[in-house]
Amino acid sequence: MIFDDLLDANRRYRAEFHDSGVPGTAARALAVLTCIDSRIDPLAMLGLRAGDAKIIRNAGARVTDDALRSLILAVNLLGVTRVCVVPHTNCAMADSTDGEIRARIEAQRGVDTAGWDFLATTDQLAALHDDIDKIGRCPLLPSDLQVGGFLFDVHSGALLPVEPR
Ligand SMILES: [Zn+2]
Repeated sequence: MIFDDLLDANRRYRAEFHDSGVPGTAARALAVLTCIDSRIDPLAMLGLRAGDAKIIRNAGARVTDDALRSLILAVNLLGVTRVCVVPHTNCAMADSTDGEIRARIEAQRGVDTAGWDFLATTDQLAALHDDIDKIGRCPLLPSDLQVGGFLFDVHSGALLPVEPR
């Protein structure tokens, strides 16, 4: 079957698995919003373990309504007091426009994605600042929530703090 490799791996995983007993709250009071890029390992990147942080991912690490939905729950119910927003270098969502992405999808797959907002940007830092502002403006999040912007370098592994605007 198409998922057999994963089920095989899980059999090995669960043979070694021990329930650490950590609760569903974030032990390090942290939420991380990062990209779906498969080169990013959010826990390893930040020295975290399972139980430490809420990890939210979407293409481009953008503060969408759904990312806010998860943040509102994480902050108000699950012990989160600080948020890292972590887009990355060499991101497909950060060097093109939505129009270009729609054209690529159409060319490669013949699929018309008109009407979909992919939130691509050609100014990644401006988008990051806008997204951090969006978290700050959310009335369902506390004003003392700590929000940091970072850029992850997928080639060096470095996490580069982005100064607030
Ligand atoms: Zn990306």
